[in-house]
Amino acid sequence: MSLADIQARMLTACTAAGRQVSDVNLIAVSKVQPDARVAAVLDQGHRIFGENKVQEAAGKWPAFRAQYQGVAVHLIGPLQTNKTRQAMELFDAIHTVDRPKLATALARLAQDMGSCPDLFIQVNTGEEPQKAGVLPADADAFVAEVRALDLPLTGLMCIPPVDEEPSLHFALLAKIAARNGLKGLSMGMSGDFETAIALGATHIRVGSAIFGARVPG
Ligand SMILES: *Cc1c(COP(=O)(O)O)cnc(C)c1O
Repeated sequence: MSLADIQARMLTACTAAGRQVSDVNLIAVSKVQPDARVAAVLDQGHRIFGENKVQEAAGKWPAFRAQYQGVAVHLIGPLQTNKTRQAMELFDAIHTVDRPKLATALARLAQDMGSCPDLFIQVNTGEEPQKAGVLPADADAFVAEVRALDLPLTGLMCIPPVDEEPSLHFALLAKIAARNGLKGLSMGMSGDFETAIALGATHIRVGSAIFGARVPG
């Protein structure tokens, strides 16, 4: 697979769903990838990337941003409250807002800094105990809470359980978003992004299918 292959598959999936490919953002998930692979994708003109750790992104993206214009980096992994300021300085979007304490910290810093990344609320659609995200039953209340803090809420994000049919989770996320008037849907990864596009994804997060298998360390 390569960037061009994924773009071609996105186009096919959008056409089949009667959607514009420009309405779907491809987030190239560069976590753990060697810099040379990331640079190769930047050299092909791609500009939206995803990282799941604040520390790793801090070590990698300031240099790439200095070298390439118009880069956007999205945080797609869990955010500890004590790293909120650093995350707000590093990222253009945060997909993992999942608790009131974090929302409050974001709001306070947004006041301070006069800006805030685009935010997505992570929903634990599979209700998995080990997974982050608000439970589906708590999602509407948390959306209201985040909005009351005057934060820029773009949409919802989910990571379906590995052993379940993802379409059920994507459909549930889309339903929660629709009833809350949210347009953004961050869903779909290497193995299921076409399904996610069919169900309305606006942000797909694709790593290994673009970069190849993640090299440990
Ligand atoms: C790593 C990761 C991805 C990308 O996974 P691939 O299967 O490599 O496409 C997407 N979303 C999240 C939250 C991730 O942590």
